[in-house]
Amino acid sequence: MTVRIGVIGTGAIGRDHTRRISQVLAGGEIVALTDVNRTSAEKVKAEVAKTAEIFETGEALIASPKVDAVLITSWGATHEQYALAAIAAGKPCFCEKPLATTAEGAKRIVEAEVKHGKRLVQVGFMRRYDAGYVALKQAVGAKIGAPILVHAAHRNPTVPEQYVTPMAIHDTLIHEIDVLRWLLDDDYVSARVLYPRKAARSHAKLRDPQIVLLETKKGVLIDVEIFVNCHYGYDIQCEIVGEDGVAKLPEPMAVKTRLAATLQNPILTDWKDRFIDSYDVELRDFLKAAAGGGVAGPSSWDGYLAAITSDACVAAQEREGEPVAIATPARPALYN
Ligand code: NAP
Repeated sequence: MTVRIGVIGTGAIGRDHTRRISQVLAGGEIVALTDVNRTSAEKVKAEVAKTAEIFETGEALIASPKVDAVLITSWGATHEQYALAAIAAGKPCFCEKPLATTAEGAKRIVEAEVKHGKRLVQVGFMRRYDAGYVALKQAVGAKIGAPILVHAAHRNPTVPEQYVTPMAIHDTLIHEIDVLRWLLDDDYVSARVLYPRKAARSHAKLRDPQIVLLETKKGVLIDVEIFVNCHYGYDIQCEIVGEDGVAKLPEPMAVKTRLAATLQNPILTDWKDRFIDSYDVELRDFLKAAAGGGVAGPSSWDGYLAAITSDACVAAQEREGEPVAIATPARPALYN
């Protein structure tokens, strides 16, 4: 079966996912597009979805009988309304992160889905589909024994002026928040944030770098360095220390050279390249499940817990050094 897909938001990632479904993956067809900026939707139609119909609103697209499933790739603040509309229409939807910009908003989506009685939302936490993280999870389960510590880093070469301190959590750490919970099969109980001196390349409204310390229910201590003006490249690191050994996230494939008395290999600079394959795999998973009328992969529950944890980390940023408790609500049976 070919799943007929409508895309809400045709900016950077919306265009890219449209291209993937139209040109790379089997099992889906982009039949509908919408964007607050109609010209953007028209451009994407001309480039990568020539037969798609352009709708005036996301709600009209979701309601159309031509659309079987929905991709929500608009601004984060609009995700909640479209996810709720997709659930009300009983249509599977793939929602880019964040599921909602507040924990209350994410909770409303969880409640609507539970009331509907069937999972219909997959959240775009694509790192769970990255071959390196999948291999790391296997090593944690089978090789290094029970985890005790995690050392992680999320480094960007640079960020725009509009990127302010809380965005280090909502836009950047959010990926570690989800993938580490999944890797450890654990939930968070507290967060703390520590700041060293500010890096010279940072700006007035951004404390950069920072260290986020997360503690889990099983007693694992996690340190994540967020350094978004690191200058040298886009670099994601993750090392898990277990009872019997240490497992490290593989580096992206790169040619090593021996040249002029120097052994070296390049480091990526653009985040889009780092997890490029995992976007294909996550959408393949979505298309497969949507063909059966449902979804698999990261759930609304995962999106909700990520939002709760994000809020706690932002509160911890404001109370430098002090722990902020993270309470995990009871998990509805739908997400077991
Ligand atoms: P973007 O380039 O700004 O694209 C967002 C698009 O949505 C813009 O074209 C915008 O319109 C449109 N839009 C805004 N409100 C809308 C509405 N109510 N209805 C329909 N369209 C609307 O942003 P992006 O980089 O693609 O990011 C989009 C989302 O994906 C964000 O939530 C982001 O966090 C997420 N994302 C995830 C990843 C990942 O690694 N998983 C990577 C990138 C982005 P205008 O044309 O007027 O701006």
